[in-house]
Amino acid sequence: MTDGFDTLLAHDADIVDGPVVPPIVQTSLFAFDSFEALQRAFTGEAARPIYSRGVNPTVHAFETKLAQLEGAAAARGFASGMGAISAAVLSQVRAGERVVCVRHVYPDTYRFLTRLLPRLGIAVTFVDGTDPDQVAHALDGARLLYLESPTSLVFERHDLAALAALARAAGVTTIADNSWASPIFQRPLELGVDLVVHSASKYLGGHSDVVAGVVAGDAERLGLIEHLTYPFLGAKLSPFDAWLLLRGMRTLAMRMARHRASGLAVARWLAGRAAVTKVYHPAIVEGSSGGAPSADPPASGLFSIELAERVDIAAFCNALSLFRLGVSWGGHESLVFPAKIGLMQAGNDNALHDFGVSPRLVRLNIGLEAADDLIRDLEHALRTAGGG
Ligand SMILES: *Cc1c(COP(=O)(O)O)cnc(C)c1O
Repeated sequence: MTDGFDTLLAHDADIVDGPVVPPIVQTSLFAFDSFEALQRAFTGEAARPIYSRGVNPTVHAFETKLAQLEGAAAARGFASGMGAISAAVLSQVRAGERVVCVRHVYPDTYRFLTRLLPRLGIAVTFVDGTDPDQVAHALDGARLLYLESPTSLVFERHDLAALAALARAAGVTTIADNSWASPIFQRPLELGVDLVVHSASKYLGGHSDVVAGVVAGDAERLGLIEHLTYPFLGAKLSPFDAWLLLRGMRTLAMRMARHRASGLAVARWLAGRAAVTKVYHPAIVEGSSGGAPSADPPASGLFSIELAERVDIAAFCNALSLFRLGVSWGGHESLVFPAKIGLMQAGNDNALHDFGVSPRLVRLNIGLEAADDLIRDLEHALRTAGGG
């Protein structure tokens, strides 16, 4: 599964001759020796960076690598996953048009779609991504289909190829959030999706030290982003953050293999506990991918469980010592996030509430620690919280 990527991941584009690590080109602008040289850069005759809100060589090295990983013609880095998502969506829709989005989408994507788009005269319809008939019906007259598979928190898995084909037949552009699987386990463009977006803050960075995003796709759609949203919304990726991403991505394939193995081991152990009433793991849930679970499924290290009524969720979280409490995921460290807390978040458009996420749900991010140690930690916490 991860074969073939290791070599690509180990090498970066040469910005200057010599250094095996691309330098952080920490500059706002690039100066020119002559009027003519400046003119050639402005007319596009010579491909030279002008200003770092446009092109920066360190950022470009990250964009090139990500485009290669996703099998895309081009990619654009952003200051955050939301920067990438908002720029991608706003580049493809106009006032009077409608976006169709799968339910259980990432909570801030949900807020962006429900809070900001209506102010711009863009309507949004949410659909059950596991029901192709419902999606097909909603696509009639729509402009954009926004996908995320597996989804956030409940990890509902969708047939991206089938949904992309429905959209294509209806003349609807597709965008897929691929943060969970990373390009190691899923490449949406190969499945017929038009644009892929990532929160690079998660697995691409992998070390919980950077907030960043990226969009990848074909030259024409990337061109719209390039000319309409990237320069004016201004959520550019910084050279240092791009450097951290390049550094993190060198071990992406290795990390994903480890997250997958440990995630499956912990999820399977939890599935055997009486106090765990449900496991939301797209690779081990029977039928979630339209068939029996395979012995060696592609998976990452993020999944959820539901705990029986008798388990005190606060006590469970507090009794953990290796797992820390926090949002975000995809780093080296194991984390838990209780939906009970997410449901309390202020604001009248709460995705967890609106999509009906159970307050008994706890999301686990399995980091790079030894799986046996994590299982011991969970066993102890379950016992302490009344679920032993
Ligand atoms: C975190 C996340 C985002 C948002 O990314 P940021 O880098 O935090 O802006 C988008 N999609 C998914 C699935 C996420 O988990």
